[in-house]
Amino acid sequence: MNKLLFGVSGLPIGSQIKRINYASGIEFKLPYSDVDYRLETTGKGTQFGTLEELVSLCSEVSSCKLCIDFSHIHARNNGNLKGYDDFAGILQYVQNKLGRSALDDLHIHMGGIKYNEKGERNHLPLLESDFNYTACLKALKDFDVKGCVISEGPLLEKDALLLKNTFMKL
Ligand SMILES: [Zn+2]
Repeated sequence: MNKLLFGVSGLPIGSQIKRINYASGIEFKLPYSDVDYRLETTGKGTQFGTLEELVSLCSEVSSCKLCIDFSHIHARNNGNLKGYDDFAGILQYVQNKLGRSALDDLHIHMGGIKYNEKGERNHLPLLESDFNYTACLKALKDFDVKGCVISEGPLLEKDALLLKNTFMKL
């Protein structure tokens, strides 16, 4: 990874994508060619940004890459990520659809999260939430995922250390 990565929250990605018609077919492009656009899974059912939607965009637009916010997926599906198999299933899906290279350069968000039937309410410290970060980290380790894990929530540094230390002990 030698590209500079910029994170933008809430960029209306759909409106930025240009459809270019070449004689050989259709290509989709984003405005800046030297950056990766990291598309983050969103936390509310009404928002664009399910894993499937973003994987589909990533497979069509070469400068789009995934940012899996596991806590958002958990929240938008009312707490569906309970155990190891749920996390492993996500990684297997990404590998099947986008290839091994997607797991060799993955951007990940993780943190505690409060949610209701409509999805995300707010971020919480990991230890005050039901987010199963140990199972998530175990799946990341087993799939030998490479890239970057970003801690999100009110206790950024403390939770980042908790994630790192838990990962090292696995
Ligand atoms: Zn996030």
